[in-house]
Amino acid sequence: MTGVPKLVNIVHQCIFCERSLSTPQKLRHHLSSHGCDVPSKVGVGRRINNSSFIYVGTSEPQDLIQKHFGCPFCNIHYEALASLHIHFTTCHPEILARTEIQQPTQDAKLE
Ligand SMILES: [Zn+2]
Ligand SMILES: [Zn+2]
Repeated sequence: MTGVPKLVNIVHQCIFCERSLSTPQKLRHHLSSHGCDVPSKVGVGRRINNSSFIYVGTSEPQDLIQKHFGCPFCNIHYEALASLHIHFTTCHPEILARTEIQQPTQDAKLE
């Protein structure tokens, strides 16, 4: 109820190689090339401006805008790419199930 909404510009960046894609669709396609199990239908709509965030393009003065990394599978977004990575592992584990990053090839020697 308090405060001023933040101006955020959502970017679509790969959590694995940090490559930026122009749209969430392209990012999903890109993630599938990393071995992600990307669903064909994704329930992501346009992000609607709300009391916390106003979604803007890059036409606004840059010093007023925070760059946020958007999840291509839901409407969540984070200031840090590492936070998005954590979100992937906790909220979309099925998408990461077959990636090499989630299943490291090193031998588990934890005895
Ligand atoms: Zn990538
Ligand atoms: Zn998500």
